[in-house]
Amino acid sequence: MKTIFEYNEETTGHLSDEEIQLKLPSDLMRDDLELPNISEINVVRHYTNLSKKNFGVDVGFYPLGSCTMKYNPKVNEDMAKLNGFAGLHPHSSEECIQGALELMWRLEQQLKEITGMDAVSLQPAAGAQSELLGATIAKAHFDQKNEKRTKAIIPDSAHGTNPATAAICRLETVVIPTDSRGNMDLQKFKESLTPDIALVMLTNPNTLGLYEENILEICDLAHKNGTLMYCDGANMNALLGITKPAEQGFDMIHLNLHKSFSTPHGGGGPGAGVLGVRSFLADYLPIPRVTKQNTKYVLDYEKNKSVGKIHSFYGNFGMLVRAYSYIMSWGTDIRKVSEHAVLNANYLLSLLKESYHLSYNRSCAHEFVISSKNFGEKSALNIAKRLLDYGFHPPTIYFPLIVSEALMIEPTETESMETLDRFASALKKIAVEINANPQLVMSAPHSTPIGRLDEVEAARKPNLRWNPSLENDKMGSH
Ligand SMILES: *Cc1c(COP(=O)(O)O)cnc(C)c1O
Repeated sequence: MKTIFEYNEETTGHLSDEEIQLKLPSDLMRDDLELPNISEINVVRHYTNLSKKNFGVDVGFYPLGSCTMKYNPKVNEDMAKLNGFAGLHPHSSEECIQGALELMWRLEQQLKEITGMDAVSLQPAAGAQSELLGATIAKAHFDQKNEKRTKAIIPDSAHGTNPATAAICRLETVVIPTDSRGNMDLQKFKESLTPDIALVMLTNPNTLGLYEENILEICDLAHKNGTLMYCDGANMNALLGITKPAEQGFDMIHLNLHKSFSTPHGGGGPGAGVLGVRSFLADYLPIPRVTKQNTKYVLDYEKNKSVGKIHSFYGNFGMLVRAYSYIMSWGTDIRKVSEHAVLNANYLLSLLKESYHLSYNRSCAHEFVISSKNFGEKSALNIAKRLLDYGFHPPTIYFPLIVSEALMIEPTETESMETLDRFASALKKIAVEINANPQLVMSAPHSTPIGRLDEVEAARKPNLRWNPSLENDKMGSH
């Protein structure tokens, strides 16, 4: 039997809906479909109630470390929705999209200023894709110089995308351990810095929320070895307007616009990672490049040494509008973002230090990692679940991998002191509960629409819609 769409295409042309209905053959007219027959108000209530079961940054505190779940001002959404931006067709001629090109050009200038880099590509769709671009550029750079380099140095605190990127680019990862102060171990780094190292991928501040104290020496040693320094700048919240990664010695950096520059994320995209590079790598960036010729903006498809394209058209343009709007609304005050992010993190850390173990006792940058190892195995998971009963989204847990029972907390700059106080008091109460009434914490959450999930089963076999045959399951099992 043909589908109604095929039937439509072939035989009905431009008929009205009513005419189509009259012409439909009887074998397409089925009355055995179990379509719900309910009123509008019931549909509205159903979906409104479903939406209230969700948790987002507009509902409550969301301290998910390394993810920067900060509040994204709604004005940035309004800007991205402007018809002149949202209604653009990517095939429009350059004359018709001068405003969009100008916005991209200006955003590149702003990000150059923020990172200290000489050129920026807005094309990658995410941090991981930006890393892929950076490593690809590094390979092209060494190919050009006729140097065979096959390895990347990555500290053991790094985000999983770093070694994954190296693997995809066929670079062998050399893992450097973290020292007792939470820095990449300098001695081990020196020993590993052999002539076949193409790239050092470093996150600064690292995923422990700590500033790499030896960053100048590391960059210097790498450069003397002919090695490129790649900065994972997914989280720029500690550095904005305070220091520039290029001045620390990095040759490349990626930024996640969907973390530090106000694009809502967490629902799976779209996002935007951008890559900044120093001038000697600029010719390798993807095409087209937006350039300014007198007062006109043009798309330059000249390939030169470009590694090609990493995304269709010009990247995820809507995210670029949000980031531009966000940066413009801060202007030269953008440093305050970082000052408040770092202040909030240190304030929260000082409140929690007595109840939770701190592996590296230093003041932190925009986030910090505490450990619940004193409360036993699996305690981080149980504490995270119990936090839901207090109305908070849990922090990141079990990352970075080098801290056992890790709770990685990033309050971000947008939270008030009252919220931080309430969160700290919830975590302190749980620290008491876990000893006094372990069962209460181990079986949490108790107040959410669905209780404790089997995490593996929930990830492997997600059950995301109502299904009559599972009605008796009550969705409780997964
Ligand atoms: C989020 C993050 C990434 C990956 O970025 P995606 O946009 O999720 O691909 C890489 N490194 C760090 C430190 C991150 O926090």
